[in-house]
Amino acid sequence: MTTTPSADSTNRQIRLAARPFGLPKPTDWATVEEPVREPADGRLLVEVSHISLDPAMRGWMNDVRSYIPPVGLGEVMRAGGIGRVRASRHPGFAVGDVVYGGFGVQEYADSDGLGVHRVDPDLAPLPTYLGALGITGLTAYFGLFDVGAAKPGQTVLVSGAAGAVGSVVGQLARLTGCRTVGIAGGPDKCRLLVEQFGYDAAIDYRSADLGAALREHCPDGVDVYFDNVGGDILNTALTRLARGARVVICGAISQYNNTEPPTGPSNYLSLLVNRASMTGMVVFDYASRYPEARAELAGWLADGRLISREDVVEGEVTDFPATLLRLFRGENTGKLVLKIR
Ligand code: NAP
Repeated sequence: MTTTPSADSTNRQIRLAARPFGLPKPTDWATVEEPVREPADGRLLVEVSHISLDPAMRGWMNDVRSYIPPVGLGEVMRAGGIGRVRASRHPGFAVGDVVYGGFGVQEYADSDGLGVHRVDPDLAPLPTYLGALGITGLTAYFGLFDVGAAKPGQTVLVSGAAGAVGSVVGQLARLTGCRTVGIAGGPDKCRLLVEQFGYDAAIDYRSADLGAALREHCPDGVDVYFDNVGGDILNTALTRLARGARVVICGAISQYNNTEPPTGPSNYLSLLVNRASMTGMVVFDYASRYPEARAELAGWLADGRLISREDVVEGEVTDFPATLLRLFRGENTGKLVLKIR
């Protein structure tokens, strides 16, 4: 069955025009309009309603070897999103289905259905499928439980703690019976860490002496450090590790727009002294276990023990470049989502 939008509908796309040096500039992007076409056999057409904005997007714009190939120049910018099936010649999807997939930064996506799954708008608001029920929640879940191996009674320190992943990590650690300490920028976010996300203590890295604050709030050391930001915060956190600590390298947003190569943490010998480990994780490696994690996360959301906080910006697809920059200025709280008007 197909109900493709009228023949004169256009699909606005945001394509990568140039590889950024430092923070992405408006000229690194191009807006392209294409006609919306009927899907071919085995394909579906999705009208995108919500686009996920991720710090990792900055890495995907660089032409370097990584866990995923870079976005090519002239290609539609890669992005996860939610949308409604408008036409389908795919046996697995019907018109009207609400779906998650890697639809890119565009108004309509022509998809082969790979990596696409239905979501239930009656079970949770759509942005939550990009937040705690999406890659964000899965990253927190596998990073904390599998890589961090957090145990009740242990101290879990989280950077980027008021962000999408960090806000979920803190809550999951608390659910596990850990003492939780969050690091975030500014007094408002720090208040939120304690009042909304249940952190035992919050540290404002912009105003505090981080080393002194860690000594105060982590008197017995840090058993799990869940790092979202890298740089100086990682380096200082390494000085406070407990014996046998696990450092989870989830991300390093403070380094993504560097124009110089990052300098490594000079305090790394703390790993030796404390018989600690530092492990990088990529959530995609856990794809076969997403269903079990999603079910558990959905259960905690349903019984109110987990809050998914999303920062939804309403706009046009052309607002994507400016909205992405909010992540690098700390202007988001929770999961940043662009809702297409
Ligand atoms: P996010 O934390 O919601 O957004 C970014 C936040 O980072 C900002 O709000 C800001 O918070 C903080 N930030 C920005 N620049 C900073 C700087 N120079 N120093 C310190 N903090 C800075 O983003 P997210 O989606 O949850 O992602 C968090 C991290 O996880 C990122 O590094 C991302 O790449 C990574 N990630 C990894 C995986 C994986 O599989 N490994 C999957 C998803 C995400 P403040 O206001 O507190 O500074």
